[in-house]
Amino acid sequence: MLQVAVVGAGVAGLASAIALRRAGASVTVFERRSGPATGGAGVLLQPSGLVALAAIGGALDPESPAIRRLEGRRRDGKRVLDLDYGRYPAGNGRGVVRATLVNRLLALAEAAGVAFRFASPVTAITGHAGGAALRGVGKGTWDLIVVADGAHSPLRETVAPVDRTRAYDWSALWALVPLPGDWPRDVLQQRYHRGDRMAGILPVAQGRGKPAVGTFFWSVRHDAVTAWRQAPLQEWKAAVLRLWPSLAPIVDAFRTHDDLHVATYRDARPSRWHRGRVVLVGDAAHGTSPQLGNGVTLALGDAVVLARALARAPDIPAGLNAYERERRTAVRFTNLCDSIARSQRHCAVSRQGAGASAWRGSRQASATPPRRRAVAPHGWPCAPPWTALLVAHVDLATPRSSRLATAAHTATETWQYFRKG
Ligand SMILES: Cc1cc2nc3c(=O)[nH]c(=O)nc-3n(C[C@H](O)[C@H](O)[C@H](O)COP(=O)(O)OP(=O)(O)OC[C@H]3O[C@@H](n4cnc5c(N)ncnc54)[C@H](O)[C@@H]3O)c2cc1C
Repeated sequence: MLQVAVVGAGVAGLASAIALRRAGASVTVFERRSGPATGGAGVLLQPSGLVALAAIGGALDPESPAIRRLEGRRRDGKRVLDLDYGRYPAGNGRGVVRATLVNRLLALAEAAGVAFRFASPVTAITGHAGGAALRGVGKGTWDLIVVADGAHSPLRETVAPVDRTRAYDWSALWALVPLPGDWPRDVLQQRYHRGDRMAGILPVAQGRGKPAVGTFFWSVRHDAVTAWRQAPLQEWKAAVLRLWPSLAPIVDAFRTHDDLHVATYRDARPSRWHRGRVVLVGDAAHGTSPQLGNGVTLALGDAVVLARALARAPDIPAGLNAYERERRTAVRFTNLCDSIARSQRHCAVSRQGAGASAWRGSRQASATPPRRRAVAPHGWPCAPPWTALLVAHVDLATPRSSRLATAAHTATETWQYFRKG
């Protein structure tokens, strides 16, 4: 029986552990935290993420709301993003609190017979070909080590000598908030101003007799977080309400800066994802902009494809090659959308919404100096077909028939969009 160690009990690590255990491996998960996750923002699971979750035997309960539309407006109310999942064959997304998803996966993993070692920070990985070992958590060698220690992964360099990973210039302030009674439960809403302000609300929990909960998020440049902390909270609240007045009941409830969490991100671009018996999954392999709402979906897809590739391959190296080949295609696609989205920084917010002008805007923006492009803040562009391409997500973890149908549908939409432009 294949002896597998997984480093990290986030979405990628847990999903990989479940998928590999279901494929017959003996799996132990090492997690530096002392117990299951308790916090975390809400995340959006894309349709293909739900397919991948089902493939490892998981499902979300009805408390996680179906997200049927993504809507982005400028400060003046003009709509610049309107994505109706109903127009795509892949189906809805779902909003979920990250800790709820992680604990759901944890229960599934325990039921499948995965072993856990909490309070076990792995400090290094040694050996690659004959059997790999973990440092800091006792002795023993493993047939396979799955590195799922997240976007800030210090273990990534074990695998990838060339690593173009860099900190993302923008952070997010976020909080889980009760939603006002009349707030739409099935729409991810965003507001933008001039490409440097963005607020959003993603519904993530609803329950019989309980108030609905959403994740509030506000983008802030990484190097401006200290100044934000030092300024009176009232100033920041006023800025939020200038952008989006109807957030008043939500924003009024924040009493101190500590009511908001700061999340930082990394664009992880390691040159390779596996070496010998060590393989990267999730954000460790491909941390991306959170604006694309795709990290959890990609992590779940990695798990499904990794287990399937190993099961079909004659040996571990062949399986890991097949895994990397297949998943790189899905990730390249996300990165492409990310680049397009970032290069469109101005058009989404300062032009007349969608259409040919938006496309021209993106081309002009592409001609801006690289530094300016590098700090382009927000992912959601004004061109619905491009976002739709990503969101309806032609991910390789989805069934082939659904992929083809979605691709065909998206191509038609894109064509009609530019003709209208
Ligand atoms: C505010 C915010 C909003 C987001 N919104 C979305 C969204 O809407 N949709 C979406 O799909 N994605 C979203 N994401 C991204 C998403 O959360 C990640 O892509 C996803 O969680 C990736 O999971 P992971 O398992 O690779 O990494 P992580 O979730 O970071 O898990 C890594 C785990 O490894 C553990 N670990 C780290 N180092 C070690 C070590 N040395 N030894 C042992 N254990 C270790 C950590 O404690 C952690 O439990 C968002 C992220 C943030 C921060």
